[in-house]
Formats: sequence, C-alpha cells, structure tokens
Amino acid sequence: MAVHYCGLCRRTSFSGRRHLYSAAHRRRLQEALARLQEEVAAARAAAAAAAAEEDDEEGDGGVAVRPYDPAEHDRRVWCLCCGRGVRRDGRRGGLALPQAGLLQHLAGAEHRRETARFWRENRAEAALRERFLVPAEEYERFARALERALAAHQRREEERIRQMAAGIREAERRQRETVQAALQLQMEPELCVGPSV
Ligand SMILES: [Zn+2]
Ligand SMILES: [Zn+2]
Repeated sequence: MAVHYCGLCRRTSFSGRRHLYSAAHRRRLQEALARLQEEVAAARAAAAAAAAEEDDEEGDGGVAVRPYDPAEHDRRVWCLCCGRGVRRDGRRGGLALPQAGLLQHLAGAEHRRETARFWRENRAEAALRERFLVPAEEYERFARALERALAAHQRREEERIRQMAAGIREAERRQRETVQAALQLQMEPELCVGPSV
C-alpha cells in the first residue's frame, strides 16, 4: 500500500499519489492558490503603480512610504509554494515599505524553484504558474521606484526640519524684541524724569 502525506490537506493518504487527483485535494489546492494569488495580485498592482511614475524624475516614485507600525507592517503572507510565511512589507529604519518584502520573495530564485516543484508535485494548471511569479525586470523597476520614494521622503523630512528650525529662530527673535521693548518702556520714564530733578 502506497502511503503519501499531503502537506496541503495535512493528512496521510493510503491511496498514494492518487490522492493528488482526488476532488477534495483539488478543491483545497484551488482555494489555497486563490488566496495566494490575491496577495500576489495586490503586490504586483503596487509595483505597477510605482513603475507608472518611473519616468517622472521629480515624482516620489509612486510608493507610499510611511512610518513603520508593527501592528500593520509585521504581517506575513503564507507562501504555499515555499511552505513558509513571508513578510509582506519591507522596512528601512523607521519607515515601512509596503509590499516590498513579498515582491522581493516572489521575484527570487528560491520562490521560482519552489513554485516549479509545487506545480509538478500538485499537478497544478501550468498556465496559472506565471501569475505566482514576479519577473526580475518588474521587481527591479519597483526597487528603483522605491529608492526614489525614499529619497523624496528624505528631502521632505529635511525641508520640514529646516522650516521648523526657521520657525523657532523667528519665535526667538520676536521674544527678544518684546523683551527689549519692555525694557525700554521701563527706562524711558526715568530718562524723562532725570533732567527736571
Ligand atoms: Zn491533499
Ligand atoms: Zn514562495
């Protein structure tokens, strides 16, 4: 009797690899692939939006970098093909890079290899496989847009700090003027009184 353990269904089958053709397994496979495909589609849409602004040198790269919030950005996506959780967002210092982690994974050699293996083992539909991969040039365009977005963010931060410093200097100047004016008011009556005594 051929025994086969199916990681997807999490059960041992005594019909061996014929289990892979069973209706229950096919249904689970389709459900799991649909879930992953949704995540892949969202990541690729983010990459496409970023790349759309690629030619705009003055643009911010179309990537929304924002402060890193563990509750939102520590999220992992289960990669069915590699059998492990993948961090969806990237991180640079205190900033979150939405979808950067997942895109890097989907464009990587490990994922490409494991996806081929998974497809072979599960007899998944060959035509669908490309939907689970990110071509290298697509990822490179995204990575370039990401760098531009980070540079634009840095410029905005520096400008904000420069304006804040200018605001503080201006407030200090006004305070000095107010103090000087008050001192002068105190001194003036004495000056007036002086000669008549
Ligand atoms: Zn199964
Ligand atoms: Zn993977």
